[in-house]
Amino acid sequence: MAPQLDGYFEQVDALSESFIERLRSAVAIPSVSADEARRPDVIRMSKFLVSELTKLGAHVESRELGPQPEKPHLQLPPVVIARYGSSTSKRTILVYGHYDVQPAGIEDGWATEPFSLSIDDKGRMYGRGSTDDKGPVLGWLNAIQAHKEAGVELPVNLLMCFEGMEEYGSEGLDDFIGKEAKSGGFFADADAVCISDNYWLGTEKPCLTYGLRGCNYYSVSVSGPGQDLHSGVFGGTAQEPMTDLVRVLGTLVDTNGKIQIPGINEMVAPVTDEERALYDPISYTMENLHESLGSTTTIHSEKEPTLMARWRMPSLSLHGIEGAFSQSGAKTVIPAKVTGKFSIRTVPDMESEKVNEYVYKYVDEQFKKLGSKNKCEVKLQHAGNWWVASPNHWNFSAAGKAVEKVFGVKPDLTREGGSIPVTLTFEQATGKNVLLLPMGSSTDAAHSINEKLDRRNYIEGTKLLGAYLHYVAEEPMSNGA
Ligand SMILES: [Zn+2]
Repeated sequence: MAPQLDGYFEQVDALSESFIERLRSAVAIPSVSADEARRPDVIRMSKFLVSELTKLGAHVESRELGPQPEKPHLQLPPVVIARYGSSTSKRTILVYGHYDVQPAGIEDGWATEPFSLSIDDKGRMYGRGSTDDKGPVLGWLNAIQAHKEAGVELPVNLLMCFEGMEEYGSEGLDDFIGKEAKSGGFFADADAVCISDNYWLGTEKPCLTYGLRGCNYYSVSVSGPGQDLHSGVFGGTAQEPMTDLVRVLGTLVDTNGKIQIPGINEMVAPVTDEERALYDPISYTMENLHESLGSTTTIHSEKEPTLMARWRMPSLSLHGIEGAFSQSGAKTVIPAKVTGKFSIRTVPDMESEKVNEYVYKYVDEQFKKLGSKNKCEVKLQHAGNWWVASPNHWNFSAAGKAVEKVFGVKPDLTREGGSIPVTLTFEQATGKNVLLLPMGSSTDAAHSINEKLDRRNYIEGTKLLGAYLHYVAEEPMSNGA
């Protein structure tokens, strides 16, 4: 039986101005987690959520995470967890979002005050956190409110987990989720997880995201001389660390992005026919890419290999050289020690440990080939694993039906080239399927100046989150592929 959603949808429309006011109040709290001086505002934002959720009749707890690692004088902002409904005959859906935001200042080039929601005539609602991630977080609250006011029963039990440190590495969250997902914990009865904290591939068509790449980040240092040297005095007499480093870095990847380290590409899962079929319907063109790239200097000239290269193939990027002369001008320094930074975006079925092993071995060999008397050291800086879920799971099919109901189109099934580490944390801690169900669009400029959320994405997105809960309540459990 198709869920009856008309009453709910009408209520969302009727309440839309008050939902925008709710977002305005949230954006006005500059909850910047990276800025120590803003910590009281981050806490204030957590209290705002507690108060809104309490008013809606949810059971809410504000859980302390203790002092911030490396800044013990500073308390981490609390995780706001809430439960709405606890019927044993209903499914329980756990949703995640974050209430902290990236830093922002008008002096960075914003056209409007970043912490004051400003709506233009096209319905674009500008403000820091509008799309990342206050809009989606409030979307869940709006969905509860519209159900209540329409007199429509929420068809699932809703568990909520809203953190305040996402933009600063989610410190303390992994352990917390691990503990609460265990038997007796707050999230123990979750049947599936839904995260609304990413973006549509374009601006028109919603998507469901089922995969993320991981990232292994390395540094390679070359040193020799006891201090920086002058090329007029030592040029031609000393073996130069920078020369060695650049030659080693130059062997890692070619101009067309092919990783040269043996063993890496061999670990990549082959593309199946079933997977290939997911790409054709995706609404994306090379023009979209050229526009976001700001040039036409692409590796591939077709949509499918481009999306595959971004989502399901590994890539290696060179990021920078610490210790090198990088200002303008013509300084004749020979740097004594330079550290190159590069990372590999990882995909199924690459094993992080093996990637490290191959990288160390290869860098070592390449350096030895140079016959240099300098010293070379390669290190892993940090690693986060890739994630991929089955888009055939009932959690995804329910979300797909909700998208069709609200937007009248089948969603794109997408992956992302970047990582959202909390996704994997939830999957591992709960053992349940995790769905990424974005609200915002590709032009929202999260983390950038002039961040915005379109009114349509916010209001229809609120309908979508609510509709998803109805379809998820009805999907047959057997579809747990
Ligand atoms: Zn976010």
